[in-house]
Amino acid sequence: MSQHINVLDMAREQLAVAANLLELDKGLHDVLAQPMRQMIVHFPVVLDNGEVQVFEGYRVQHNASRGPTKGGIRYHPDVDLSETSALAMWMTWKCAVVNIPYGGAKGSVKVDTKQLTKRELEKLTRRYVTEISTMIGERSDIPAPDIGTNAQVMAWVMDTVSMQKGYTVPGCVTGKPIELGGSEGRTEATGRGVVVTMEEAAKVMNMDLGKAKVIVQGFGNVGSTAAKLAEESGATVVGVSDAVGGIYNPNGLPVHDLFYRYSGRDGGIREYKDAEQVTNAEILELPCDVLIPAAIAAQLTKENATKVKAKLIVEGANGPTTPEADHILSDKGVLVVPDILANAGGVVVSYFEWVQDLQNFFWEENEVNNKLTRIMRHSFAAVEAGMRAHKTDMRTAALIIGVKRVADATIRRGIFP
Ligand code: NAD
Repeated sequence: MSQHINVLDMAREQLAVAANLLELDKGLHDVLAQPMRQMIVHFPVVLDNGEVQVFEGYRVQHNASRGPTKGGIRYHPDVDLSETSALAMWMTWKCAVVNIPYGGAKGSVKVDTKQLTKRELEKLTRRYVTEISTMIGERSDIPAPDIGTNAQVMAWVMDTVSMQKGYTVPGCVTGKPIELGGSEGRTEATGRGVVVTMEEAAKVMNMDLGKAKVIVQGFGNVGSTAAKLAEESGATVVGVSDAVGGIYNPNGLPVHDLFYRYSGRDGGIREYKDAEQVTNAEILELPCDVLIPAAIAAQLTKENATKVKAKLIVEGANGPTTPEADHILSDKGVLVVPDILANAGGVVVSYFEWVQDLQNFFWEENEVNNKLTRIMRHSFAAVEAGMRAHKTDMRTAALIIGVKRVADATIRRGIFP
């Protein structure tokens, strides 16, 4: 679906709504609508069979007025410069909404990692990092995991930057393994933040999570953690899916069991027998109280938004809802907790990891989780208050906060020279 929808147009449309409400000066709006730097790289990798394959990758920095830029690296066959730029823009607003001192960035490589061996993946990562090395660094632009990348990939990023510098630079990337300066709680942070905002939203809506049914699209890092923690918070997870398709049982699914048996293997969850097999399109329209899209962009569109049964949508993925779908859902009275708030837990704990790396002083997991929960609750409350004050939807309220913080920083700094 995402191939047909230009997510950069979507991101710019969202910015325009906030810019109008904030009565931003046209020049300032123009600055914020463009990424400050975009790099396209083409680089060769020698495959295990001796053949050379050329890959295309990108690194985009959207805005650095509030600090170094920060954003994940995505490995997926459908990435392009435009999508990477949209994701970088969303990172800028996200860091500002939760008030951490970063601007937004994103990186990606057009690749289907399932076609590569581990050795090829390592070589691809090391060469991609070398190609974008003029942009990234612990004080300039700090990558993290996203779709198709994980802690091992981040370890290779860290090692490659360190080899080039001649000394170990743990703060140049986050989402690393614990033994290389990673933070406790980082792997689960995005899913944990999603569930904290789900709990806060449920309180506002007087929804009893103990009786709530939850569906999660995507069973990767974010989706599987969100499903597990939603179950721990008392809800019943009735549907989950991955790139191959989904499973649904209105009486509930054994999420922890599914995770330990099938996660990390696309199609694996469909081996579970005590559930109905459904497609990725169907799963979004099945009966539930809470829907957590945690896969890819542009999943809720004008075509399917009218058929969504959930009363609450918590966006684990980036950009899963198109602006047209937003209008339809808002008219139906569905509360959408937007990506730039709901999935900010990952970048919050990435920020904690970076701070710990720079200080060489590491925190215990409950300290990380407590600090994360406090920031997520506080940010949710601010956005919810903004929603009521401006009589608008939650995405616009979050954008107003995020865009205003970035605009204020830009004005304070002034336009150089
Ligand atoms: P991941 O690679 O660990 O998992 C992605 C999951 O989505 C997999 O289960 C995959 O099978 C599934 N998927 C892929 N294509 C699909 C499709 N067409 N339909 C349904 N499922 C599909 O990635 P992740 O890190 O969990 O990221 C998921 C989403 O969350 C992305 O939008 C990402 O940008 C966003 N996000 C991730 C983080 C993070 O910390 N990892 C932080 C913020 C936002």
